[in-house]
Parts: sequence; C-alpha cells; structure tokens
Amino acid sequence: PKSPTNKKVSNSRRDSIYDYKSEAAKKVELIAKNRDERRQRQADEKAQKDLIMHLEQNNPYWEFSQMIRDFRNGIDFRPLREHDPVVENQITVCVRKRPLNDKEDRRKEVDVITVNTKNQLIVHEPKHKVDLTKYLENQNFRFDYVFDDSCSNDIVYKFTAKPLVKTIFEGGMATCFAYGQTGSGKTHTMGGEFRGKQQNFRNGIYGLVAVDVFKLLNHQKYAQKNYMVSASFFEIYGKLVFDLLAKKQRLRVLEDGKQQVQVVGLTEKIVSKVEDVIDLIQKGSMERTSGQTSANSNSSRSHAVFQIILRKSGSKHVDGKFSLIDLAGNERGADTNKSNRQTRIEGADINKSLLALKECIRALGRKGAHLPFRGSKLTQVLRDSFIGEKSRTCMIALISPGNFSVDHSLNTLRYADRVKELIATDSPED
Ligand code: ADP
Ligand code: MG
Repeated sequence: PKSPTNKKVSNSRRDSIYDYKSEAAKKVELIAKNRDERRQRQADEKAQKDLIMHLEQNNPYWEFSQMIRDFRNGIDFRPLREHDPVVENQITVCVRKRPLNDKEDRRKEVDVITVNTKNQLIVHEPKHKVDLTKYLENQNFRFDYVFDDSCSNDIVYKFTAKPLVKTIFEGGMATCFAYGQTGSGKTHTMGGEFRGKQQNFRNGIYGLVAVDVFKLLNHQKYAQKNYMVSASFFEIYGKLVFDLLAKKQRLRVLEDGKQQVQVVGLTEKIVSKVEDVIDLIQKGSMERTSGQTSANSNSSRSHAVFQIILRKSGSKHVDGKFSLIDLAGNERGADTNKSNRQTRIEGADINKSLLALKECIRALGRKGAHLPFRGSKLTQVLRDSFIGEKSRTCMIALISPGNFSVDHSLNTLRYADRVKELIATDSPED
C-alpha cells in the first residue's frame, strides 16, 4: 500500500539527482565565470593603463585633477543662494571666481579653486615632493561672500554695491573696487558682461548702481531732498589723470589748504535718467580701450574711476558720491624687475597705489587711524571717501580658476584677506 512517506522519499531522491547534475553544471559555469572575470579584469587594467597613458600625453595635470575631484566628492557644498541675507558692513570684502575660459581649456588647465560655502573657498595648490610625487596644498580662505563661477553680475551686485547706494542718499560716501589679476574679470564685473567684443553696459556694477540711484531719487523718502545727479569717468595712469569723458584730456590734481582734493577740469555730466548714464559708461569705456594694440595692454595698467555724484540743485556742495573703481591688474605691481624702464616704473606705481589703498580701507575701519592717502594718486583723489563715519566700501577680489594662475590668485586672496581680516573656520555656518 502506498504510504504518504514513500512518496516523499521518491520525490526527494529525484531532487537529489537533479541537484547532482546542477552541481556539475554549476562548476562548469563557475570556471567559465572566473575566466570571463579574469579576462574582464585584464581588459579593465589595460584600458586603465591606456587611459593613464592617454591622459599623461594629453593632460599633464590629470592626477591633480583627480585629486581635486576626490576632494570635492568628500565635502559638503553650501554655496551662496540668491535669497541669502545681505549683511550691512562698513567694509565688505568678497571674492568672485570666474569660469575657466577657452584659452585655459585649450591649455588643459585644471580648476584649482573650490567654493564650498557662501563665504569660504579652498585653493588647491599643485605641488611636488622631493621624490616627485604629486600632492595638493589646500588653503582655506574666508571673506564676507564668495561667488562661484555660476554667479551672475546681478547676484554679485546684490551683495556688494547695492547695499551701499542708500549710503550716498544719507550723506555718506561709497566706494566699490574690483581688484585682481588681468583677465580675472574686473571689467566684466564693473562694466558689464562681454559677448565677444561687445559689452553689455547694463549688467555691470556701474549700470546697476545707476538704476538704483534713480530708483531712490524718486523714492518718497528722498524725493524732497531735491538731489541732482551727475557722473564723471576718469583714468589714473601712474601719476597722470585722464578724463575719459573728454577725449582723455590730461587733468591736474590739486590739494587746497584744507586738504580738499580736486581734479581740476574734470568733466561732470548731469544725468536725468539711467539711459544717460549708460551712454556715459559706454563712451568712457570705449575711450579707455581705444588705441590699444592688444585687448588688455593699456587698461590693465591704469585704474578707471567712475563716479556718481549727488548735489542739491544749484549747490556746489557734494552730498553723496559713489566711486566705482576698476583697478589696474595687480600682477603689474610685480613688474618691478622687468628690463624695460617704463614698465618697471609703472609696476612700482601700481604696487604703491594698491598698498596705499589697502591701508586706507583698513584705516576706515579703525576710528582715528592715520590715513596714508598721499601714498598714491588713486588714494589722493578718493580721500574724501575714506573719511567720515558714514563712509562705506566694498572690495570685490576677482580670481582666475586655472592652475597657471594659482600664484596670482593666492596673492589676490592674501591682499583681500589683509583688507579685512576674517578667520577661516571649518564650520560652514560661521
Ligand atoms: P580684467 O578686466 O580683470 O582684465 P575682463 O573683465 O576683461 O578681465 O575678463 C577677461 C575675460 O574673461 C573676458 O572675456 C570676460 O568676458 C571673461 N569673464 C570674466 N569674468 C567672467 C565671468 N564671471 N563669467 C564669464 N566670463 C567672464
Ligand atoms: Mg579690464
């Protein structure tokens, strides 16, 4: 008689035969799999070797690039966002990093600047040990704000010059400086974005300030003050001053007995709408670059000063002034041992003016500090902007991201750091 137990046995026997076959099949499969994996591994290793060879031939910085990528993968990013709070400082110092440009891309340069938070950045300096192994020297910096390469002029403006516009309506002086190496983005930031050789003067800091000046002029809070707006635009080239609104006419700077500094004969055009200001910016910018042999030969060696002035109608007294300065390339300050005498003198002048500027800004933050404004033509003509408790200033330090520029970028960051010493921390919230 069939019992349920018997059935079970026969079933299990069938299973075990089946298992036996499958064990053999599995072994064969495993051998095949191991062989495939080994081949794949060898192929991968070869591909990796080929890739490394290819990279070494095509990109000498690939290892640094890899190290920077690893670094970035290991940290949290909390960049500045448009609606982050704007802090009201007497002195604001910030940094803007531009994207790598075509020229840097063609040279296969590596982006050595990491902007990790709204106010900090890291410079990855490529270095070699004595045995030639490569390593990165990472340095942290902290400023009031750090703008990464995705920020537009509008965002930069919002956190830098915009909060200073009301200052000039309240009896104060305002200044905004663009500092950095030639090609780092000073003119792009101050004058407007370039599209090829065309510049959009509407989205530079000069133009954006003009828009807000006219907005406040008509604001009920200030309308009864009857302010009249005018603008001037000049260039400081060594010890010489040229009027950019009068065919680069040379101007003299005089200081009277009361230490009042005057640029004699400087053109000051009355403006009644934004459009008038844009026309002046365009005119002056063209004048600045006219007659240049290459894109940045002369303008990189001069400081351009654009000013918007407020006066009561019919009065000579200046009630408020906003000076916007596109500084000479700071690398020119290092041209002090060039064989060409002219270049050497220019370099020394630029160096002197940038050092004097730094000291004047630092003095602004310390009541009663000595103001070394006679140290250069630049600080001399800006003297009245460095005095008075209501004066405010903003420095935008511009940096190029490529590894070829790392020394210049470090110089720029150290300078900006000295203008306003903030302590870099590891905590992104500080
Ligand atoms: P500088 O005045 O400091 O010598 P420029 O403002 O002339 O430098 O900039 C050099 C080049 O880099 C220009 O072609 C400019 O359009 C480009 N550039 C600068 N900053 C930026 C940016 N933030 N985004 C895109 N391009 C930029
Ligand atoms: Mg420029």
